[in-house]
Amino acid sequence: MKALLVENSKLFQGLISQVLTESGFDVTCADDPVTGMDCLSSDDYGLIAVSYDVDDAENFDLIKKIRSEENLRNVPALLLTDTDDVAVRKTGLENGYTDVICKQHIDALQQYVKDFSEHVLIRCKGQVLYIEDDFYAADLVRLYLNDIGLVVDHFSNAEEGLVALDEKEYDLVISDVVLPGKLSGFGVITHVRHMDNENANIPILAVSAFSDSARKVELLRHGANDFVEKPFQVVEFIVRVTNLIKNKQLIDQVKRNQSQLYKLAMTDQLTGLYNRYSMLDLAPKWISDAYRHESNLCLLMIDMDNFKKINDCYGHAAGDNVLKEFGHVLSDAVRDGDIVARFGGEEFVVLLKHCDIEDGLAKAEQIRKLIVELKPMNIPISVSVGMASLSRENEQTFEGLLKQADDAMYEAKNKGRNKVVLFGAETNNAKLSATPARQTK
Ligand code: GH3
Ligand code: MG
Ligand code: MG
Ligand code: MG
Repeated sequence: MKALLVENSKLFQGLISQVLTESGFDVTCADDPVTGMDCLSSDDYGLIAVSYDVDDAENFDLIKKIRSEENLRNVPALLLTDTDDVAVRKTGLENGYTDVICKQHIDALQQYVKDFSEHVLIRCKGQVLYIEDDFYAADLVRLYLNDIGLVVDHFSNAEEGLVALDEKEYDLVISDVVLPGKLSGFGVITHVRHMDNENANIPILAVSAFSDSARKVELLRHGANDFVEKPFQVVEFIVRVTNLIKNKQLIDQVKRNQSQLYKLAMTDQLTGLYNRYSMLDLAPKWISDAYRHESNLCLLMIDMDNFKKINDCYGHAAGDNVLKEFGHVLSDAVRDGDIVARFGGEEFVVLLKHCDIEDGLAKAEQIRKLIVELKPMNIPISVSVGMASLSRENEQTFEGLLKQADDAMYEAKNKGRNKVVLFGAETNNAKLSATPARQTK
C-alpha cells in the first residue's frame, strides 16, 4: 500500500519514510502541500502523513482539500507536529485529520503506523456467502474480498444462497436487501437467525441502496450485525467485513478453547476415561433417561485388589501402566454408549445402559475374567466388582445406586476378592456364582 508523506525537512523525510517503509508502506515524499495534492490526484494512497509547519498560515488547507474530494474523503490522514500542542491537535482533528502525532516521539509514531498497517493492510482468511442480484456489484465485491484473501461464493437469489449455507461452513453472510426471489434480505436474516444449528449465530452484513434510517434499524432489529449503504466506500466496506469475520473467528476460537478445557476437566489424564466429576455430572441424566424409557441399568463398582502391593513391588510407574491397560480392557469390554469412568485411584465405575441384572452380572463376570487373564507386564492382577441394578424393584438415584454398588464391592473384598457381588443378591434371587448365559457386548 502506498503512503504519501508531505514534509519539508529532508531529515524528517528520511526518518519518517523509514518508519513507514518498515511497516510495509511504499512511500512517496512531497516537499510541500501543492506537490502533495498533485501526487494525490495522480495515484491512490492508503495513508497520508502531513507535517505541521509552524510558519505556514495555510496549515490546514491541504486536509480540507483532501476531505472535499470524493475519492480521498476516507483516506486516513495523520498530522505530524513538532510539539504536543493541545490546540494544534484539536484544530487538526476538527479539520479532518484522523489523528495527530508528535514526530519527536518516533516510537509513538512507529507504534501507530504498525497498528495502522495491521488493521489496514488487511489480510483475512475466511469464506463469505454473498447474495446479490446485481452482477456488476457482485463482481466488484468479489474482487475486493478476494484481494484481501477471502473466498467468496456468490448467489443471485436468497433461496440458492441459503441452500449453500446448509451445505458449507461460512464465516460471514453478506446479503443485498432487494432480491428477485420470494425472499428478500429481511427474509434471509430471519431464516438464518431461526436455524437450529451454529449458523443461527453467523454474522450478517446487509447491503442496500436504502438510506433511510428506519429501514436500517429494521435490518439490525431483524438480526443483521451491520449495514453498509450502496454504493459503498471500499475501505469502509472492507473494514466492516473483516471486523465481522475476525470477531466470529475469535468467538469460534474461544468456543474451541472452552470445549478443550471442558474435555480436559472431564477426562482422567492417566487413562483417558471419564473422571469422577464427569460421572457425577452426567450420570443423573442417564438415570432419568432409564426411568423415562423404562429400561434397566446396571452400575459396576470395580476396585483393583491389593493394588498397594503392586506399587510396592513393581514401583508406581508400573502401577500407572497397570491402571492404563486396565482402563483399555474396561472400555473395550463395554458397548458403545456405556460409560466407563476412573472414579478414584484404582477404582472404576461402569454404567451399563439398557441392561438387566442377568446381562449386568454376565458383563461383570466377563470383566473380572478378562482382568485375571490380562497380566500386564506379567503382573498378576484381579478386581472385586460390586454391582447394583436399577429396575422397577430397585428405584434409586445415582448416589443411591453408587452406594449399593460400593457396598457390594466391599462385600466382594470381604469374601476373598476377585469376585463379583450383586447388591441385595438374595432379594434379587440371583446367584453370584451363576454362569452367565448371554454375552452382552
Ligand atoms: P484392596 O484390595 O483392599 O482394594 O487393597 P488396595 O491396596 O488396592 O487398596 P488401598 O486403598 O489400600 O490402596 C490403593 C492403592 O492404589 C494405594 C495407592 O497408592 C494406589 N493408587 C491410587 N492411585 C494411583 C495411581 O494413579 N497410580 C498408582 N500407581 N497407584 C495409585
Ligand atoms: Mg438487489
Ligand atoms: Mg483396591
Ligand atoms: Mg480402592
